[in-house]
Amino acid sequence: MRIVLLGAPGSGKGTQAKLLVEKYKLPQISTGDMLRDAVAEGSPLGRQAKIAMDAGQLVSDEIVLGIIQERVTRPDARKGFILDGFPRNLQQAEALDQLLTSLGRPLNLSLLVAVDVDALIQRLVGRRTCLSCGQMYNIYYAPPHIEGRCDECGGRLRHRGDDNEETIGNRLRVFETHTLPVAEYYKEKGELRTVQGVGEITDIFKAVTKVVEDVKANIKNETRTDAIRAAFAKHRASKAEKAAAAKKDAAKKKLAAKKTVKKKVVKKKAVKKKAAGKKQTVKKVAAKKATAKKAVKKQAVKKKVVKVVKKAVKKKAASKVVAKKKPVKKVAAKKAPAKKVAKKKVVKKKVAAKKKPVAKKKKATRKKR
Ligand code: AMP
Repeated sequence: MRIVLLGAPGSGKGTQAKLLVEKYKLPQISTGDMLRDAVAEGSPLGRQAKIAMDAGQLVSDEIVLGIIQERVTRPDARKGFILDGFPRNLQQAEALDQLLTSLGRPLNLSLLVAVDVDALIQRLVGRRTCLSCGQMYNIYYAPPHIEGRCDECGGRLRHRGDDNEETIGNRLRVFETHTLPVAEYYKEKGELRTVQGVGEITDIFKAVTKVVEDVKANIKNETRTDAIRAAFAKHRASKAEKAAAAKKDAAKKKLAAKKTVKKKVVKKKAVKKKAAGKKQTVKKVAAKKATAKKAVKKQAVKKKVVKVVKKAVKKKAASKVVAKKKPVKKVAAKKAPAKKVAKKKVVKKKVAAKKKPVAKKKKATRKKR
């Protein structure tokens, strides 16, 4: 499980974190503790952090995020962790989300330990911590049996340097200004749970444990739901894949059918074209033949006409000849009476001549001239 414990300085979130570590065997990651270690070591990072810590201000995000990144990627944090004192502002909260998302291990719970300001001041001012085992005491309501000595290990108790009134005031203001918005951030995401951090530590822990168990059950359900969802998604994906394949297949078949139809149409068209061509050719040939026949017929008719005409001409000619001949006879026949008349005239003339010889002689003379 991955838990973030939120709470004002002195809310007891550190104590609850230690109890959770014991119960769930998860590592506690406290930025405050790590920074204090760095300060104690006198490392450059510690020296830098000390100034802000002594003033009750937040250490720079750059330093804290560096520490956190290194810590949550350690092997012992694989099964989960309890973040104590981090994130302390919105930027840290967002950076943590990004980091955990990139690791594929998102947060499971953000738990706010709520305590009012008066109680906080009393706790912070009276707080004492064992330097050896980290056991915590409060000189007002949970004092050690021997002053300054740890009941558990006999170690020396320490009053934190930043637990003085001025620094406490600053730390509380920083909490209200920067850290409470982080609680809001998780609330909006639906990841925030709150327990009242007042009363016996064990009672508070009971409430904390209840929340943790709740979330754990949810995670189980979610895991189951996720598994079901994943199975459904897998099923849907395979169904979709099958549908897509079927669609592809159908499209392929359709295309093939279209191609076949097209081919058939083209073939049919070609056949039709060919047939039409043939028909045209036949028609053309027939037309040619008809034309030729017509020409032959025309020629024949012409010939016949010529023949007829010739014949007619001949006949006409013949009939002319006949006609010529016939009128001769006729004329002759007709002329016969004329001849006769002429003869008669001649006879008459002769008779007349006999009667008038002088006149006849005169006429003859005129003829000779
Ligand atoms: P804590 O023990 O958690 O109260 O932290 C003690 C001091 O360490 C704080 O007052 C800050 O100066 C510093 N500190 C701890 N955690 C953070 C953090 N997440 N961001 C900035 N400063 C921090």
